[in-house]
Amino acid sequence: MTGTLGRRPWRRAFNIILNSGVSGLDPVRSRSVMGANRFFLMSAAVCLPWVVAIAVAHPPATLVPALTHLAMVCGWIVCVDLNRRRHYIAASITGLVLPIVQFGYLSWLFSTEAGFSLPLLTVGALAFVLFPPRQWRVAAAITAVAALVLVRMYLAADFEVPEVAVSDNWLTGASVGNVLVVVMIVSVLALFNNHYFVRERRRNDELLAEAHVAARTDALTEVYNRRGIGPFLSDAVRSGEYALALLDLDRFKRINDRLGHGAGDVVLSNVARTLVDAVGSRGTVARWGGEEFLVVLPHMSLGAAVGVIEDARRAMADEYGADAFLEPVTISAGVAHAGRHAGKEETLRLADAKLYEAKESGRNRVLGASVAVTARD
Ligand code: GH3
Ligand code: MG
Ligand code: MG
Repeated sequence: MTGTLGRRPWRRAFNIILNSGVSGLDPVRSRSVMGANRFFLMSAAVCLPWVVAIAVAHPPATLVPALTHLAMVCGWIVCVDLNRRRHYIAASITGLVLPIVQFGYLSWLFSTEAGFSLPLLTVGALAFVLFPPRQWRVAAAITAVAALVLVRMYLAADFEVPEVAVSDNWLTGASVGNVLVVVMIVSVLALFNNHYFVRERRRNDELLAEAHVAARTDALTEVYNRRGIGPFLSDAVRSGEYALALLDLDRFKRINDRLGHGAGDVVLSNVARTLVDAVGSRGTVARWGGEEFLVVLPHMSLGAAVGVIEDARRAMADEYGADAFLEPVTISAGVAHAGRHAGKEETLRLADAKLYEAKESGRNRVLGASVAVTARD
């Protein structure tokens, strides 16, 4: 408990620094800015032990380089502030030029043997993380500067011998420390890259699955829409004997007129739920249009199909047909049964004709027929 409480202020401070200047940015840009803030913070943290190490190397001669190293830490804090004030490019350029200058200076002071040239190898990789893809030219320019400084170091004689008298042991220790710094930077970059890659891929998969469901679902009633029922229709036709039922709410316009469109919407979604419950696993329900539903009933005889829809009609009449509502809600339905070779258009046309008949003959009823067998059969 105490541990959790103790960690919280640190975490809050870390999050404030991480999110400096991020609000309102698009995801790509905010990721770059957050990456930059994280880099400034981590670099400052890694640099602090070096301030001490350099200061104790050979005082007082090493106090100036220790102080310039401390100045670099302050510089990175300034970079976070630049991001906070939305000077993103200035922040990233400063954040990368600072170490180029400082590590160039330290390499001249302690010679290339101390390994302060090595962190410059990572500047290119860092630049391409800190700048969004659109600003690749700035990243490429900073990479080129770091490469030139590095080449200059290894070609010039004034980087061969330390300007400050430090022991061989100290030089070896510094070069090992710098190798570890490079390994750490490269590993952290790879780790974050991998983390973001996996996270983005998972998010894309989720969004794709959501879009897939949304494209096939009717938003109001949550049953399939026309696109969603398509594959069920095709499967039913392919499977051989099947039936299609078109159901239409009776006098639904009156409900809208008397109770309002909002209440009409509630009625529609309740009717859809009752319909889905009544049909169960025997068929698939879709909203075919306004207040009209289609039920696909595969592997079903005419009698069985009429039975299923009659169950639905009765359930509807039981639930909403009496006094429960200001207006009773009933449905009329036309059922078309198709043997082999009957296409869905023909079957739908017959279902529509039977629905029309059901309406004409008094509503709140189910009428069915089989598609006539053609000469082809
Ligand atoms: P009938 O028994 O002949 O089918 O009469 P009806 O009033 O149901 O048929 P009509 O075609 O005259 O009116 C259908 C009404 O359905 C009109 C339209 O405003 C309403 N409607 C269609 N879609 C929606 C919807 O999503 N929400 C609401 N609230 N009403 C809808
Ligand atoms: Mg109607
Ligand atoms: Mg209608």
